[in-house]
Amino acid sequence: MEKIQMTTPLVEMDGDEMTRILWKMIKDELILPYVDLKSEYYDLGLEYRNETNDQVTVDSAEATMKYGVAVKCATITPNAARMTEYNLKEMWKSPNGTIRAMLDGTVFRAPIIVKGIEPCVKNWEKPITLARHAYGDVYKNTEIKVDKPGKAELVFTAEDGTEVRELIHTFKAPGILQGIHNTDASITSFAHACFKYALDTKQDLWFATKDTISKKYDHNFKDIFQEIYDAEYAEQFKAAGISYFYTLIDDAVARVMKDKGGFIWACKNYDGDVMSDMVSSAFGSLAMMTSVLVSPSGVYEYEAAHGTVQRHYYKHLKGEETSTNSVATIFAWTGALRKRGELDNIAALCEFADKLEAATVKTIEDGKMTKDLAAITSLKDVTVLNSADFIKAIRATYDAM
Ligand code: NAP
Ligand code: MG
Repeated sequence: MEKIQMTTPLVEMDGDEMTRILWKMIKDELILPYVDLKSEYYDLGLEYRNETNDQVTVDSAEATMKYGVAVKCATITPNAARMTEYNLKEMWKSPNGTIRAMLDGTVFRAPIIVKGIEPCVKNWEKPITLARHAYGDVYKNTEIKVDKPGKAELVFTAEDGTEVRELIHTFKAPGILQGIHNTDASITSFAHACFKYALDTKQDLWFATKDTISKKYDHNFKDIFQEIYDAEYAEQFKAAGISYFYTLIDDAVARVMKDKGGFIWACKNYDGDVMSDMVSSAFGSLAMMTSVLVSPSGVYEYEAAHGTVQRHYYKHLKGEETSTNSVATIFAWTGALRKRGELDNIAALCEFADKLEAATVKTIEDGKMTKDLAAITSLKDVTVLNSADFIKAIRATYDAM
């Protein structure tokens, strides 16, 4: 059989530990036999990041902006223990943080649904995609612990010297204070990323804040979304048969629990942090969660939502057998290849991605899976496979399809 040809390279970002091992297996077994892979390879493994003073991360983000689509393996974010383990020159920043800052993106996370791994919320029939704003609010706050009586004020001093001053509270006794901010530019980028992704995936978009209580701060989020929607997306949404729905955050939470799913839930930074963990655990497993960073200019970076699975890697190093789930990493590859196919008009590449995803799901539904899924499945008599055999089983399913 002839391999599928590509025209534009995919930016490939290799990573660390167990996911680096899976990365090679996925390429060798599931991609290279079928696709004449054109990729621009960047090694984001910690050793090479250290060797290049993290320049390789910056280079990979620049290549992503140039070509438009990247696929990324999980990477170590160094901490004190990693400094000694890898003899690092510096505690390099999180590659995801660096890439996100350069692409100015929004992260969308969606569960991969298979029969036999049922969500805890029994009416969720379709995936719920979380879109989290990744800038500002409480994540860039300034705080004061007040230890005596006094007056707290919010002061803005403009460059021209004029001042706006609001009383926060007159303290009669100790208490606490917090200052937070956001920018119209960041909220605008977030809104565009959400509207574009909704159109791209043909799903309704929900957004919620607490604008009734926060009449300027949260209301600004609501207004910016509405203005952009009315001016640039309302007609496109109508044509695509999808809708934009705004409500209060508490109402959204109540509705999400009763809904069937199949929509994108855009969340402010804190809401997204909390709700994405709730949604992902309710859908079953972090190893079944995809993640894509979408920039307002339409650049896409696909990855798995989980980390490098360090504990399994140490077992692997000791020569012990591992049963690490490669589904989210496979879907990162299929997501990226499909997007490349769409942008370059290569139907065969999109079909390949669809078929490989279907084969992955079918393998699990046929009762062949890794240990993490075997522990939570409702299927009977399942076969637990090791890391390599699971990938080989997917290949066998694919070839038989
Ligand atoms: P992790 O790699 O997500 O793994 C945590 C635990 O979750 C594992 O020990 C395993 O549980 C389970 N798990 C996660 N993915 C799995 C998979 N594919 N198959 C089976 N089980 C899976 O998180 P971590 O161990 O806290 O972090 C390890 C490294 O990853 C850290 O250095 C961190 O900086 C990095 N990290 C990177 C990213 C990223 O690049 N996007 C994201 C998060 C963390 P059991 O041990 O019980 O089997
Ligand atoms: Mg969190």
